[in-house]
Amino acid sequence: DLKPLHSFLENTAERYPEKKALYFMGKELTFSEVHKQAKKMANYMQSLGLRKGDRVAIMLPNCPQAVISYYGALMAGAVVVQTNPLYKERELEYQMNDSGAEFIVCLDILLPTVTNVRGNTPIRHTIVTGIKDYLPFPKNLVYPFIQKKQYNIVVKPEQTEDTHVWHTIMENARESYLPVDIDPQEDLALLQYTGGTTGHPKGVMLTHFNLVANVQMCEAWLYKAEAGKETVLGVLPFFHVYGMTTVMNMSIMNASKMILLPKFDAGEVLKTIQKQKPTLFPGAPTIYVGLLNHPDLKKYDLSSIEACISGSAPLPVEVQEQFEKVTGGRLVEGYGLTESSPVTHANFVWTERVNGSIGVPWPDTDSKIFKMGTMEDAEIGEVGEVAVKGPQVMRGYWNNEEETDNVLKDGWLFTGDMGYMDENGYFYIVDRKKDMIIAGGYNIYPREVEEVLYEHEAVQEAVVAGIPDAYRGETVKAYVVLKSGFNLTEDELNEFCRKHLAAFKVPRIYEFRDELPKTAVGKILRRKLVEEDSKKMQ
Ligand code: ATP
Repeated sequence: DLKPLHSFLENTAERYPEKKALYFMGKELTFSEVHKQAKKMANYMQSLGLRKGDRVAIMLPNCPQAVISYYGALMAGAVVVQTNPLYKERELEYQMNDSGAEFIVCLDILLPTVTNVRGNTPIRHTIVTGIKDYLPFPKNLVYPFIQKKQYNIVVKPEQTEDTHVWHTIMENARESYLPVDIDPQEDLALLQYTGGTTGHPKGVMLTHFNLVANVQMCEAWLYKAEAGKETVLGVLPFFHVYGMTTVMNMSIMNASKMILLPKFDAGEVLKTIQKQKPTLFPGAPTIYVGLLNHPDLKKYDLSSIEACISGSAPLPVEVQEQFEKVTGGRLVEGYGLTESSPVTHANFVWTERVNGSIGVPWPDTDSKIFKMGTMEDAEIGEVGEVAVKGPQVMRGYWNNEEETDNVLKDGWLFTGDMGYMDENGYFYIVDRKKDMIIAGGYNIYPREVEEVLYEHEAVQEAVVAGIPDAYRGETVKAYVVLKSGFNLTEDELNEFCRKHLAAFKVPRIYEFRDELPKTAVGKILRRKLVEEDSKKMQ
């Protein structure tokens, strides 16, 4: 039974009209309210001339408008292009031109950025919204996800022919939009740009079917989620496919209430957990690390949390064990990538799991390991490239056949990750192909070295990268953030590494930092650190 993605909202609003769909900074909206407002948005976009397949960019942090405009655009027949609200003009311009988006929904304080690039892009209509569209506007309200210096920008957008103000739309638009005939297997729902960890983000074409399949797998597999019973903590951004699937679409399908947080701030998250009592908490390793290291951690009651899935980067076993101790819930590791909507593997939440492994392929998903650079199956335990096949796998990259052909072969998606499978069918990620370090002829996987660094009691965060070295080709460098209150010298850390790693893997250089650069989902940006170093060397 193939349905478009937005049928989730229609069904849930019909079955649970009065149930709370979301909570945002003290304000709650029911499923019926979210549905009505999404219909108005669909009606309004169609009245501006939106046709099936047109791209609508959404540049918002997690807030009610992010959910409403996403579902509204889909109902109107659009393809959604999620845009990181922290993008600077150059990045936004690239994405708008690459995707061909003619509509953009943005936060009012981002309007200057959008206005500055508009003339160089296909954008015809800008829909502007502010936090005060849903909240009484308290004095000194700060937009919590924006840098401090932007707090004071006051934008008062006016309704014009090509700029449209959210509250005017909600006051004037009708709920009667024209239903669009969607073929879930053929029609795109999303043009989702990859996280950009390893290079320029690529536009991934995901159909309604891809996304529906992944949400259904998520429900069937991960959560013992009872419809209408769960509360999901939404700290992962919805403009990234991971939060979009596992928090937003999952909650809409399952009639769960989602708690929207526009930014990761450890203190805020702890307070919110205590007050709002979420049961499910999808996250990423750096999020759990940030919470565990908060000085007031012990003051909060986190016992409402039953299940967490950690994805997007390797989860250190240490972190997993500690987080389970403080919440009493389960934290399991999963794996995925934008190209597969995103989840393909996970551990079982409630039964057997293997720490350090990404688990087993999800229902309807095949996965295997190919010998590096070949189409031959690897042996059990042999490291090769992880490949996946299933209904969640993308149609290809937007306007980029060459890259598509590089990763989609015989129906298999080559993930660019190196890993192996054990005799029980559990998969392990060793590292990204692109991150492997070759130093003096030895292959070194940064992850293995990072695991050791995390075991040191003074280390809060660590990332390891290969930096150019005239003699060995590359040399191993560790960037380390210490826990507050701890002192550690390079020599002490080096001695610790020498105890736990073969000599060729031990970092030759250590750099202590106050923090590490991260992507929107909290992935540490190894590439940026290496680039900074090579600039310094020039
Ligand atoms: P780009 O592809 O543009 O460089 P990105 O990698 O951040 O950006 P995503 O699609 O967000 O794009 O990330 C997918 C990648 O995240 C995977 O290919 C894998 O390298 C990594 N990843 C996800 N889950 C895990 C995990 N549990 N363990 C290790 N790595 C993971």
